[in-house]
Amino acid sequence: MNLLAAIWLVLFSAAVEDPGLAAKLEALTAPELAGRGAATEGERQAANLMASWLSDAGCRPAFDDGGWLQKVPLPDGRNAVNVVGVLVGAGDLVDRWLVVGAHIDHLGRVDPTIAGVPAPGEYYPGAGDNASGVVSVVAAVTRFAADQIEPRRSLLICGFGAEEIGLLGSAHLAGNLPVPPGHIDAMINLDAVGRLGEGPLNVAGLETSPRFQSFVEAAASPIAVRPQNTSLLQSDHLNFIDLGIPSLFLFTGGYAEMNSPADDFAHLDLRGVETVAAITGRLVASLATARDTFEFRQPPPASRPEAGSGNRETWFGSVPDFADEGADGYVIGGVADGGPAARAGLQKGDVLIILGGEPVADLATFTTALRHNDPGDVVEVEVLREGRRIRSLVTLGDRSERDR
Ligand SMILES: [Zn+2]
Repeated sequence: MNLLAAIWLVLFSAAVEDPGLAAKLEALTAPELAGRGAATEGERQAANLMASWLSDAGCRPAFDDGGWLQKVPLPDGRNAVNVVGVLVGAGDLVDRWLVVGAHIDHLGRVDPTIAGVPAPGEYYPGAGDNASGVVSVVAAVTRFAADQIEPRRSLLICGFGAEEIGLLGSAHLAGNLPVPPGHIDAMINLDAVGRLGEGPLNVAGLETSPRFQSFVEAAASPIAVRPQNTSLLQSDHLNFIDLGIPSLFLFTGGYAEMNSPADDFAHLDLRGVETVAAITGRLVASLATARDTFEFRQPPPASRPEAGSGNRETWFGSVPDFADEGADGYVIGGVADGGPAARAGLQKGDVLIILGGEPVADLATFTTALRHNDPGDVVEVEVLREGRRIRSLVTLGDRSERDR
């Protein structure tokens, strides 16, 4: 080995401690799984992969018949699938539970009849959304299992199916839990953790239990934690909050490739995924071993200030298309380079119809909805593009960023 190769190897091994993590991400985003669409063979394969990784970590199947998989009946008659495993706790906390989960499904194959879809592949790999969450959960559980801390809660580890079509897998599991819901003290959900960079880490659900904030900040350090709106961000934690279980949602925010065929392995921030996995491991360890009872607090409903009030500093990074005023929505006439809208993959011509849970009909309702949020907030938006509804997450900026 020459010197350069030796240096490269040292640098590389410092960058990626767990080569298994990259291999798992590649497996979940492989063409054979075809984007893991709900109720497809690809979703089932993803579930089986996650089950085998949990088995390697020392977990056992959650269901009495020895099965890892839970059938999720869909309204159209098809069946999606959840994968659920157990890591048995120890000592006097063994009968208390911590749920750790991430959705395994994504958008499946690209519909060839849809124009305007970028070209990298015929399926949506969903590397960030949400292969990154699945492998982070597996890595965190694997680390915790090896530590054998006592006493510790038992873990219920979940790969949710059919998230992308309406949180259906977690809704089914929440209604058909293999352990008594009253014995579950807390829940952690990871969804889209593939773009951490230097941080911060976005976390919703902090207000659902009084000491969550200190637990999360300790686990994330030195990465900063940015609190986010719990009720407005659609992911699987909402179904556990509905059961009165304190729940945390970790994510790294919107990104340009989200919900496009370019959300692939090559675009992942691998070191970031590894950091999120480490943070999740520390969070699992601290929540699973804490003596706390984790009192539940209902998160505030998505209450909104009056129209005309709000934060005038909040910046979206788009200009309206005034030529298209008859449209039902806010028509984007252009996006600022590197601005919030551009970073979330929004384009000229997109018609924005929902921002942060509020319907948008025109420029005025867009401006009102925008000002109900602060710079740094992550909001879910829905746009129409080529007749298709596309969801994305926008990390809002402030006006000083625009003027820079
Ligand atoms: Zn997702």
